[in-house]
Amino acid sequence: MKLLHVLCILFVFLLPAAALDREAFTFTNYRLDVRIEPGQQRLAVRGQITLRNDSTAPQKNVSLQISSTLDWSSIKLAGKAVQFVSQPYTSDIDHRGALSEAIVTLPQEIPSKAKLELEIGYEGVIPLDTTRLTRIGVPEELAKHSDWDQIGTSFTAVRGIGYVAWYPVGVESANLSEGNSLFETLARWKTREGASNVQIHFEVVSATDSPLELAVNAESCKPGSIEAGRGQITSIDCSFEFLAATVPTFAVAPYSVLNQPTLDIHYFPEHKPAAENYELATELALPFVKEWFGTPRGKIKIVELADAKASPFESGNMLMTPLNSDSRIAGLTVVHQLTHSAFLSPRPWIYEGLAHFAQAAYLEQQSGRRAALDFMAQHRTALVDAERSLAAERGSSTSANESLIATSREEFYRSKAMYVWWMLRDMLGEEALKKTLALYRPEQDKEPSYVQRLIEAQSKRDLEWFFDDWVYRDRGLPDFRVESAYPRPLVGGGYVVTVTVENLGEAGAQVPVTLRMEGGEIIRLLEVHAKSKSVLRIEAPGTPQEVIVNDGSVPERDMTNNIFKINPGTK
Ligand SMILES: [Zn+2]
Repeated sequence: MKLLHVLCILFVFLLPAAALDREAFTFTNYRLDVRIEPGQQRLAVRGQITLRNDSTAPQKNVSLQISSTLDWSSIKLAGKAVQFVSQPYTSDIDHRGALSEAIVTLPQEIPSKAKLELEIGYEGVIPLDTTRLTRIGVPEELAKHSDWDQIGTSFTAVRGIGYVAWYPVGVESANLSEGNSLFETLARWKTREGASNVQIHFEVVSATDSPLELAVNAESCKPGSIEAGRGQITSIDCSFEFLAATVPTFAVAPYSVLNQPTLDIHYFPEHKPAAENYELATELALPFVKEWFGTPRGKIKIVELADAKASPFESGNMLMTPLNSDSRIAGLTVVHQLTHSAFLSPRPWIYEGLAHFAQAAYLEQQSGRRAALDFMAQHRTALVDAERSLAAERGSSTSANESLIATSREEFYRSKAMYVWWMLRDMLGEEALKKTLALYRPEQDKEPSYVQRLIEAQSKRDLEWFFDDWVYRDRGLPDFRVESAYPRPLVGGGYVVTVTVENLGEAGAQVPVTLRMEGGEIIRLLEVHAKSKSVLRIEAPGTPQEVIVNDGSVPERDMTNNIFKINPGTK
């Protein structure tokens, strides 16, 4: 009771007037001058932002949030300073787990749909910070490979919302320890900001004579002037247009740049052989990608991260990753990026799912089906865990909607979607799927069923059940078991084996069934719908030994019940 009382007082103190709606405004336009001083780890920003009141109520207050290591210096409306209170606001949309929030009190209310232009200024430092991860128990050593953002003397890389609020945003607090709260908050922001425009003039001040290269993931950048020598300033003007898909990000380091027609790599000079490896991998992978997804629309851009164990990050046309000298990994990396460049879709399960599928298919072409299935299996555990925790959540709330068309979870729109494309390829055949992809037009993809209709027109198959189980709804994963396998000897020699496969799960699939026998194996595909059984007869020239359902091409929640030993006595 006492605690509640204290909380009430706090609330009253923080929100003097009406409750603050942090997501009332859409930030429709940013025009920022960003000065980066790596020597001081410093960032200073001046500029204008345009906000539109997209709530239904008039608003008297605006929330502007930046990373908590940055401080607000000024906020003006029509040339006049406006009243604002700056307070710390706990939120995991930033690596520090806290924001500097300016709560601006406007001279008059902004009606619904009306716009507001503010002049803003803020500055501070952006050091490496793992607070939001270490406070939920992630060991420091692991956390810094994931939250690697920083402005530093020798290396700078800073991602936007979800990592570092280096440009102002306005969202309700997100908490990493509360289920999917962070991804849902970010998804709401991206939806609101889908049509927003960001223009940034970057200036990098170098503290030494060595030139610094700036890499930005914007659709277009125009290099500005370079003032050489000590204290040299490099400038560049960039424009971001698809904030629904792009998190504005920049990197600064004494990079060398390898600039090829299909590839642009920013790398550390000592890693030149690795960079050349990626160049070769791109040449080798290009014909495969063209055949499947068409000609890439532009260059792929790879920016090296200084920490060799850093988790890669992709956004817009840029991939940030430590370079790997293993040419197999370089190959998989460039296939993913080339696929993005060749095949656009506004739907993450199509855009990312196909890029992951492309990796598996490329591996299959190079090293065989087993290698591809082993690669896909690396995605399986995370997917099974995500489905399991979701099933537990679903028990308590019915709002959880993680269908592929609605999900904001990476395990779904990446891993599960990869499997969905792989299964579609197995069902339709390579040629039919390639033809469908060639007909796909992102601007026509307005209805969730658009891609299903394209595929059905091409393959002349009814796939409603498949899309229903895997794409439009989240029905979890199948669970196959071989219920029985009866071999019957044939008069002229050999056997016919009658196999019954049961699917205990809520999602159906066409699954490979392997019959192992003396002298080899036979693989057949069998469609087994959710909560049902299907029967298959396989003719075998040799003595049948065992039946295995699912070679790993269908993600399944339990793979321990998939083998059936055929008893020689049951002949
Ligand atoms: Zn991707």
